[in-house]
Amino acid sequence: MHIDQASEAELKEQLNDLYEQYEQLAERKLGLDLTRGKPGAEQVALSNALDGILGGDYRAADGTDVRNYGGLDGLAEARELFGALLGVAPEETLVGGNSSLTLMYQVIDFAMNEGLRGEDTAWALNDQVKFLCPVPGYDRHFSICEYMHIEMLPVPMLDSGPDMDRVEELVRNDPDIKGIWCVPRFSNPSGCVYSDDTVERLAKLPQLAGEHFIVMWDNAYAVHSLYDDAPALASIADYCRAHDTLDHVFQFGSTSKVTFAGGGVAFVGSSERNLSTLKAHLAFQTIGPDKVNQLRHVRFLPDRAAIEAHMARHAALIRPRFEAVLDTLERELAGTGMGHWTAPRGGYFISFDTRPGLAREVVDLAGNIGVKLTPAGATHPYGRDEADTNIRLAPTFPSSEEVQASIDAFVVCVKLATVKQALAAG
Ligand code: PMP
Repeated sequence: MHIDQASEAELKEQLNDLYEQYEQLAERKLGLDLTRGKPGAEQVALSNALDGILGGDYRAADGTDVRNYGGLDGLAEARELFGALLGVAPEETLVGGNSSLTLMYQVIDFAMNEGLRGEDTAWALNDQVKFLCPVPGYDRHFSICEYMHIEMLPVPMLDSGPDMDRVEELVRNDPDIKGIWCVPRFSNPSGCVYSDDTVERLAKLPQLAGEHFIVMWDNAYAVHSLYDDAPALASIADYCRAHDTLDHVFQFGSTSKVTFAGGGVAFVGSSERNLSTLKAHLAFQTIGPDKVNQLRHVRFLPDRAAIEAHMARHAALIRPRFEAVLDTLERELAGTGMGHWTAPRGGYFISFDTRPGLAREVVDLAGNIGVKLTPAGATHPYGRDEADTNIRLAPTFPSSEEVQASIDAFVVCVKLATVKQALAAG
């Protein structure tokens, strides 16, 4: 039944029943955690063959001894493999250490303090620097901005990606806006895949936004489909070439959720001009990346077909967890008016919206009975979800049984909070 159709007596009866269920859950002293988008133990084990794969052969294709210093750009074969994933040439790809987040931080730090086109273009010379942040979005992007004193302007996400009418209007009218965060495929947390039109408008955005504007294209889930029919993502690099904006787009990716989350390989793709400028900056930080790990990765996953076959094994492990969440939400909440949620075809998250004003309460209710959820607000800049609706669910790390137990408890908390609110509203 839809909650708005329930009489006061019916609501009271539901509330009593829900309190009883909640008490029973509390007695079970659950210790569950749906917070972070981490791969599970079985997922990381899919890549155990990385260990020892070199078998004593430390030579890259061009004869480089990967055990030694050097090669700031990364190994040639790694640049080719991962550049192809980003749709850019090896010369337009730099392969770094284990974290794409580090590369993102370095690009922003560089643009802020050194300037992408020389000292007098450093953003820090401006009184204010602002970034567009599609919401809900990824909290660690927001943390970088906060740390760098970049003011964040939220922009709503639509089914097609960021609301581009709004984005274009904002950049046209505010020259302090220097960039936008994008997670274009299986977005964190909505799972949205940007439409072709959105990708093209983002590639053209620098023409509206000005010379020192950049698009931070964090394609963290580029190959992370759960189903064969998952929507493809258009190549932003192709659109950039057509509109001559490659200097304004930095694409990022990593194998954190392909191989080992703490021991993968991260990469950045942009114009050759940008990469050579960036390298001059990186050269003060390192003599070169871990090429041994890069070579291990190229041997383990030599081409696109190998990556896809490997990702299908990941999907087989995590698809049942996603389906447990979605089936339970559908069975328990569809048609009740108590919330809505996304049903992504890939990625690591499901985004759930409660009725306005309830996300925090649901997260607290769940926390009090031992089900940890991502803090409400985390998906918004400064932790401020004004409507207090969004909750990010991350089902990959816990076991299937734990995911089921967590979502069962979550549903009780959503119902309890919603019925309480409806009764209070009279
Ligand atoms: N970007 C997004 C959108 C993510 O969800 C994550 C991991 N949660 C990362 C980046 C982190 O990537 P890495 O491990 O390469 O630093």
